[in-house]
Amino acid sequence: MDLGIKGKTVLVTASSKGIGRAVAEGFAAEGCSVAICSRNKDELLNTAEEIKKKYGMEPVWCVCDLNNIKDIETTIETVTKQLGRIEILVNNCGGPEPGNFQQLSEKNWQAAFEQVLLSAVRLCNFVVPDMILNEWGRIINITSVSVKQPIDNLMLSNSLRTGLIGFAKTLSNEVAKFNITVNSVAPGYTLTNRIYDIAVHKAKQSAKSHEEVLVEMAKEIPINRLASPDEIASVVVFLASKQASYITGNTIQVDGGLVKGLY
Ligand code: NAD
Repeated sequence: MDLGIKGKTVLVTASSKGIGRAVAEGFAAEGCSVAICSRNKDELLNTAEEIKKKYGMEPVWCVCDLNNIKDIETTIETVTKQLGRIEILVNNCGGPEPGNFQQLSEKNWQAAFEQVLLSAVRLCNFVVPDMILNEWGRIINITSVSVKQPIDNLMLSNSLRTGLIGFAKTLSNEVAKFNITVNSVAPGYTLTNRIYDIAVHKAKQSAKSHEEVLVEMAKEIPINRLASPDEIASVVVFLASKQASYITGNTIQVDGGLVKGLY
């Protein structure tokens, strides 16, 4: 199926590995001009090289700490200079610190606010004016099933990602008339470094190994396995497509049935 986005300019943040990287690869496979960023230069170089080998296009890359507004500004400048205006923005970020209420400090809360919510607001501040001028744009946020059903011991994710959903819904109402859609994808348990770290954290609090924790996680999921990152990426790419032009203000779970509620 032709998704109608060949040649579009895409910035995927936090994309040197995991879900962000799979999303960048998904857009490269569609013939988009892709830009990636994260904090680690070596990982970025490696990812850029592998995308070039696989898809024959060289992504623009930029070292960026999403908690730092100057880095975000530099990233936008670099991408715009090399690829032109950003037409598709995928707001991904590293996962906030796990922990329950009593384990988290004010410093943890501030860092998570900057990473999960403020970074997306800042990125939108930079790209939305151009999308309005262009009368076309796609913004897709990577969140978590925690926005539908809070996950034990992930206080920061549960609290701040729902703020991002409120922001996305409100923004979607404001920009819909300019042909700009704003949606969010809520992954369930997905096989990346992040889920490994969470399993290690949970294992420390129980008498289990992290392997046993991962097996238990899979048992919670009706599909009975964790997702692969490209199963999340394919939904993100679809939301950017011409076929998805009437979907906006939505949060789509990609969770193998993990969330038990109806909505
Ligand atoms: P990951 O740890 O595999 O990859 C995270 C990426 O973010 C890496 O490229 C890392 O370099 C980058 N990053 C981290 N902090 C950054 C910062 N301050 N600035 C810029 N880049 C930064 O994680 P993942 O599993 O791919 O998760 C991606 C997002 O999806 C996270 O927010 C995570 O919490 C969320 N999520 C993951 C799962 C899962 O099961 N893996 C489930 C639900 C939600």
